[in-house]
Amino acid sequence: MLNISDINLKNKTLLIRSDFNVPIDLKGNIISNIRIKLSLPTIQYALKKGAKIILASHLGRPIEGQYNPLYSLKNIAIYLEKILHYKVILEKNYLNGINFKKNTIILLENVRFNIGEKNNNQELSQKYASLCDIFVMDAFATSHRMHSSTYGIMNFAKQSCAGMLLINEIKNLKKFLKNPKKPIISIIGGSKISTKFNILKKLAKLSNKVIVGGGIANTILSLNNDIGNSLYEPNSVLLAQKIIKKYKNIIIPVDCRVGTSFSNNTSVKIKKINKILRNEQILDIGDKTINIIKHELKKAKTVLWNGPVGVFEFQNFSKGTEEIINAITNNNIFSIVGGGDTISAIELFNVFNKISYISTGGGAFLKYIEGNKLPVISKLKNILLKNYN
Ligand code: AMP
Repeated sequence: MLNISDINLKNKTLLIRSDFNVPIDLKGNIISNIRIKLSLPTIQYALKKGAKIILASHLGRPIEGQYNPLYSLKNIAIYLEKILHYKVILEKNYLNGINFKKNTIILLENVRFNIGEKNNNQELSQKYASLCDIFVMDAFATSHRMHSSTYGIMNFAKQSCAGMLLINEIKNLKKFLKNPKKPIISIIGGSKISTKFNILKKLAKLSNKVIVGGGIANTILSLNNDIGNSLYEPNSVLLAQKIIKKYKNIIIPVDCRVGTSFSNNTSVKIKKINKILRNEQILDIGDKTINIIKHELKKAKTVLWNGPVGVFEFQNFSKGTEEIINAITNNNIFSIVGGGDTISAIELFNVFNKISYISTGGGAFLKYIEGNKLPVISKLKNILLKNYN
């Protein structure tokens, strides 16, 4: 793949497609800045090499064609300026050209405000491309989507290449797929259930043991137990049954922490899986399950993790996720973690530096591990260095 470091950047205008899609609270505070921090090396490298920089990103899921301040990148611009020590200007009207001021970085307003972004509209792709000499794709987390600012732009840009974050992601994910040290333990949890059964199959093949938690575990448990009001995916129950029958290395919770409402204030009970009442819901794993998982993790040399095993955002239901984090970070394990909420958990428990590799991708991370081709990566692989001066 053509790398940003293969190209002479001096005095060139770069459009860097980053992924600044981070959680922001209603007061405008950035709750997790990991994705932004991991995007900095490409930007800093381009600055050092004397390039003019335009940054682009999406944020959330606004309605195309409608400006909505909730999804504005203005807080990202403020944060970038602080962290880069460089003037960052948020540009709202950019599709017909930009006037660069000296010593400034331009941040394009949320690309998902533009009609056609998600349909990979040709005209829009062309407009993005005409803003720059070189397009740098660095948003690994969106590389499974063919959008105008991630994919279509490469059809029109004079030169395209991959940024440092994207290259690093591929390098580390390949390391896991090609040459993992055994035993491998995978952990899969979270609430986006239906998207995760494919990866569960792949991980069951690839790993010595797979630990399930969250909604995916609940869906499996629902096969033989009354799980009350717990989150689960009825449409995935049959698939869950097939997977459990075929793969015997999946570790399913034997006990859990339940509440009677989705809240930190609900009273917490630890229950055996077959003792859950109709009005209760599973919000975390129980202590027996935690011990089984810790025992397995003691043997692990490689761990891949996506999705918290409980509602870690509620202190009363964070123990399972916290104990897993402790077990992974205290042992000598190559750990690879992906997915927005799993990263938030890593931040909450302050172990950012103790994880071997943190992937910025959620969907893209899972799709890559599943063995799917990511369209943006495939396209980048076909791009050659052109002499366009
Ligand atoms: P995901 O994006 O699929 O990784 O889902 C992350 C979310 O799953 C977190 O916000 C957790 O609070 C949530 N989660 C984990 N376990 C449960 C559970 N048992 N019930 C409801 N939500 C859960």
